[in-house]
Amino acid sequence: MPDAPIDAATLRRWDKDHLWHPFTAQKDWYAVEPLVIDRAEGAELIDTEGRRYLDGVSSLWCNVHGHRHPTIDAAIRGQLEKLAHSTLLGLTHPTAAELARRLVELAPEGLTRVFFSDDGATAVEVALKMAFQYWRQKPDPEPDRTAFVALGGAYHGDTIGDVSLGGVDRFHTMFRPLLFPVLRAPIPFCYRCPLGLERPGCGMACLEEVDRLLASHPGTVAGVVVEPIVQGAAGMVVHPEGYLRGLREITRTHGTLLIADEVAVGFGRTGRMFASELEGVSPDFLCLAKGITGGYLPLAATLTTEEVYSAFFATTAEGKTFQHGHTYGGNPLGAAAALATLRVFEEERTLDRLRPKVALLSRRLEEFAALKHVGDVRQKGLMAGIELVRDRESKREFAWHEQVGNRVCRRARDYGVLIRPLGDVLVVMPPLSISEEQLDRLLDVMLRCVREVTEGTAG
Ligand SMILES: *Cc1c(COP(=O)(O)O)cnc(C)c1O
Repeated sequence: MPDAPIDAATLRRWDKDHLWHPFTAQKDWYAVEPLVIDRAEGAELIDTEGRRYLDGVSSLWCNVHGHRHPTIDAAIRGQLEKLAHSTLLGLTHPTAAELARRLVELAPEGLTRVFFSDDGATAVEVALKMAFQYWRQKPDPEPDRTAFVALGGAYHGDTIGDVSLGGVDRFHTMFRPLLFPVLRAPIPFCYRCPLGLERPGCGMACLEEVDRLLASHPGTVAGVVVEPIVQGAAGMVVHPEGYLRGLREITRTHGTLLIADEVAVGFGRTGRMFASELEGVSPDFLCLAKGITGGYLPLAATLTTEEVYSAFFATTAEGKTFQHGHTYGGNPLGAAAALATLRVFEEERTLDRLRPKVALLSRRLEEFAALKHVGDVRQKGLMAGIELVRDRESKREFAWHEQVGNRVCRRARDYGVLIRPLGDVLVVMPPLSISEEQLDRLLDVMLRCVREVTEGTAG
């Protein structure tokens, strides 16, 4: 007999007594009664009281085909019948080999080698260390290439290497004394142009800055790291068309590596399997996580080229081994979930069926753009940001302590929608499997909540 379920009040008390939540002001957390999510179904999460909520941010940007998808559930159960975990250190297993093969088939041209880890942060950390080591070991070594270029507003995860690349002050400033320095390129953010330019043409100016940065640091840059097409954590910043392609050309011209962090944008989010495809770009490293398992289990992959791999292809005695690994890297349950996730993309023609939803989102975003306190709306595929401002004319922001973005999201809960903002940028990022009816409902609630909250503000 299973034990009787523990009541929600007790769980809330245990949470407050013992749990420390990520990216959360713990004192604020004490002031509210947290939702306890108990179950889920498709695009909905269900709490302990049986109330249903639309999962408007895909359980932090990772759910793809909905919760409790029968194909993915069955794949994990099937894997569980055989093997839950075995290491990739000195051994292999079928699901890791099959998934590596499948990822190479799907990835942009030239990415033929797959290194598994377990999170977005580790996927990027692996790329950094591989790039660094590559320059020391390639046939004609360039050991001075030790620096990385990262963009303003960059977010690549929370390990020290990734935080070094990070450009979000709120997250990263605290740790500055611990970090290695990076060369910072301007974020190509047209609405709030760091160079003070008007569009169009501002994207080209940002590219020229990268070109200048590389020209002024000849032979010392190991790689340029970018979130292709959309910088998520920066506030759903959609890069101007041609930026990624330009970056690829510039890195080639200067003979350095391009590291594409597709942790947020990979697996269909932008309308293509990988965002780099939108501009026909093959990076030297492709970092994948979040959606790779459909949002089920922690698994990540760093893909690279034969060129990079061959610099490590040596015997133990030659001392060129990549001395890095994570205990659960390539975990069979995660790999089985990932294979099933990729199968569902085919079986359900997920990318084809996404198109009308993307069009619906575009149409509905126009209604937001017309609101008095919406400064900008940005969208690529099924990924959008709605930036709330005090004053549209001057683009002046709301005071931080007003917590306008948070208040909109809090209110949305009352109408059965779970969303999480980035400051005053509202994020729309539901599972790709959301129905058009559900997407309409999500946007109805968001529109209503933006009106209710911002109409109560001054200005
Ligand atoms: C979320 C995210 C990461 C970090 O992934 P984790 O799995 O949370 O470590 C890295 N890069 C980008 C672009 C992300 O959005």
